[in-house]
Amino acid sequence: MELSEKVIITVAPTGAWPSKKDNPALPVTPQEIADDVYACRQAGAAVAHLHMRDAQGNGSMNKEIFKETVALIRKRCDIVLNLTTSGDLNATDETRMAHLIEIRPELASYDCGSMNWMHNSLFLNPPAFLAALAATMNEHGVKPEIEIFDAGMVYNALYYQKKDLLKSPLHFQFVLGAAGGMAATVENLIFLKGLIPEDSTWSALGIGKGHLPIMYAALALGGHIRVGMEDNVFYGKGRPASSNAEFVERAVRLVREIGKDNATPDEARLILSLGNCKGV
Ligand code: ZN
Repeated sequence: MELSEKVIITVAPTGAWPSKKDNPALPVTPQEIADDVYACRQAGAAVAHLHMRDAQGNGSMNKEIFKETVALIRKRCDIVLNLTTSGDLNATDETRMAHLIEIRPELASYDCGSMNWMHNSLFLNPPAFLAALAATMNEHGVKPEIEIFDAGMVYNALYYQKKDLLKSPLHFQFVLGAAGGMAATVENLIFLKGLIPEDSTWSALGIGKGHLPIMYAALALGGHIRVGMEDNVFYGKGRPASSNAEFVERAVRLVREIGKDNATPDEARLILSLGNCKGV
């Protein structure tokens, strides 16, 4: 099968916000996250987008927790790692980047603008931070996954591309349905997709009840997809997911039903033009 027939399934197993009260299967410790990522890799995920938690279960950008978790994952599988740079709204700019310098993951999130967050706080990504983050990623061989919560963020990305801070081909993740950003509608996804450069790759996710509609729409439009408890803890109405792997298994089935196949990690490396491609 051609690479154009392959769909990258990213799993985002933890996020910064859900708790075990929302879903007891949520992985939060380094060992739980590593075990969960391995199960998702076995189920068909090619990329893992990771957030860490501290001992109290709160979102953390502590680089030691990232290092411990990444080491546990690397012992067991070759999944592409995508580390968050936005796992704690109170972290300093330096703390948001420190793990990238030491771990050099193949991908990391790049939230391309500031916004009101969930009607209760600020998600700050000011120009000085975005310039510094892009420079750090370029220096350490980390490809930005440009997270788009609102249309203006696409235009920010085009600006940083023009300034040569973001390098082509760009890779976008459309995050729809976060309060403060654009709603998880098919119309919004089509609009955003129309704004990005033609040589870009893109993926999309809907938060909560937008999860399935955006997954179906992304597949219909030729995009890649993200699943996992960072975005949605329910498998169906009123029924919590039994595991992140359960979401991945469903995504694989949907991908195959439209006549495509899920990408392996090495195929994802080729599709996303990652520098560390192994074995190809
Ligand atoms: Zn995230």
